[in-house]
Amino acid sequence: MIGLEIHAHLLTASKIFCGCGTSFGAPPNTCVCPVCLGLPGALPVLNHAAVDLAIRAALALGCTVHETSVFARKHYFYPDLAKGYQISQYDCPLATGGALAATRIHRVHLEEDAGKSLHDGFPDSDRKTYVDFNRSGVPLIEIVTEPDLRSASDAAGFFSRLRSMLVWLGVNDGNMEEGSLRCDANVSVRRAGGALGTKAEIKNLNSFRFLQKALEYEIERQIGVLKGGGRVTQETRLWDAASGVTASMRSKEEAHDYRYFPEPDLPPLVVDAARLGSIRAAMPELPEARRARFIAQHALPEYDAGQLVESRALADYYEHVVRAGAPAKAASNWIMGELARVLKDRGADITAPPVSAAALAGLIALVEQGRISGSIAKHVFDTMVASGRTSDDIVQAEDLAQIDDEPRLVALIGDVLAAHPGPVAQYREGKTATFGFLVGQVMRASAGKANPTRVNELLRRALEA
Ligand code: ADP
Ligand code: MG
Ligand code: ZN
Repeated sequence: MIGLEIHAHLLTASKIFCGCGTSFGAPPNTCVCPVCLGLPGALPVLNHAAVDLAIRAALALGCTVHETSVFARKHYFYPDLAKGYQISQYDCPLATGGALAATRIHRVHLEEDAGKSLHDGFPDSDRKTYVDFNRSGVPLIEIVTEPDLRSASDAAGFFSRLRSMLVWLGVNDGNMEEGSLRCDANVSVRRAGGALGTKAEIKNLNSFRFLQKALEYEIERQIGVLKGGGRVTQETRLWDAASGVTASMRSKEEAHDYRYFPEPDLPPLVVDAARLGSIRAAMPELPEARRARFIAQHALPEYDAGQLVESRALADYYEHVVRAGAPAKAASNWIMGELARVLKDRGADITAPPVSAAALAGLIALVEQGRISGSIAKHVFDTMVASGRTSDDIVQAEDLAQIDDEPRLVALIGDVLAAHPGPVAQYREGKTATFGFLVGQVMRASAGKANPTRVNELLRRALEA
């Protein structure tokens, strides 16, 4: 049984309780003020842009957004937690009870991030830890699932799906390496149909692979403990990627008592129906709805539609190509084929397309109009990628236009027949299998530019003459 707690930075320009910026990678301690440094007497002021993003995520996950929620102080000591408490939400969270695919969402609440302790990278790192407070006060949502997941790979799959959804919504940048999206995994094992087991929590997993590996290890460890007649202890564990094991960080006895109480410096958060309505109205079309629309409106196969809604940027790109006049299925084939190949080779993604949607539509149009063949089009595409030139330009400059012109084709065919008397004679004796070979020779003689349909026609006519 696996339940996840996911922390996602909200994509606001400023922090949740002060006006400091949130950009990642600024020089240490340059985006700070008395509020996010926790100086005495400083007062928090709620950033409503963060609330709106949190609500957008909660609505997309099908949660009930509560009209009133309450901020609470969660107390613990840590050098990167300047105030000695984190402002979070506790017994009255922003939203509860949703689902993503088959996994139920228990709650979504708002909170602030802590600063960051820097344990290495300094000449005296063996003796000192440095603290960077730029991250202190960056807005987060915590999304807590019910323990509905049943395997390590399902958990990784869910996390990946949630990431795509948050990025799609424009709520989070999905950047796990920079810590914008982090996951804690709770896992217990039990005999089929037996009572729920005692869980362990694995903290701060920042990749799908680590989540999966840590859970695989932890499930085996707990089964081993139980089979050996022992009991699993409730504890927090850390994943050590280098050695591939989880190790105990603190047990339940040492677990924190956070002494939650309502934050006295902030009023309860009230979200009225009008605000909820306007956030709902401004929501982008969600991946599932868009997938269904692609099938209905563009008559795409399910497979194509599923691939094209992988990200909102990809779905947008696809629709640009179609709006620029490309047939729906041809556009899908180009994007999933040639374009995906180039992106993969470059380790890039569609937010920086190697060829604009309009330019790709232009290329597809040349194929549709019969001006170039499918295989020439692939060459033109590669040239577009490499040079940034338009397809028209390349076709003209390299003289790639398809040859339809009958006298030219007849002349080419005449040359090929003269050069291959053997296969010609065989064909005429009834060994018609040589026909394909002769077509190939004509195509080759035309550097791939001859119209294959016309070549077939005219070659047959010539052979049977
Ligand atoms: P805690 O109070 O220890 O934080 P919660 O009840 O808030 O525990 O649950 C935290 C997370 O742990 C949730 O994602 C929940 O689904 C999951 N969880 C709770 N109990 C179990 C269990 N027995 N096995 C696996 N996961 C569990
Ligand atoms: Mg918890
Ligand atoms: Zn600040």
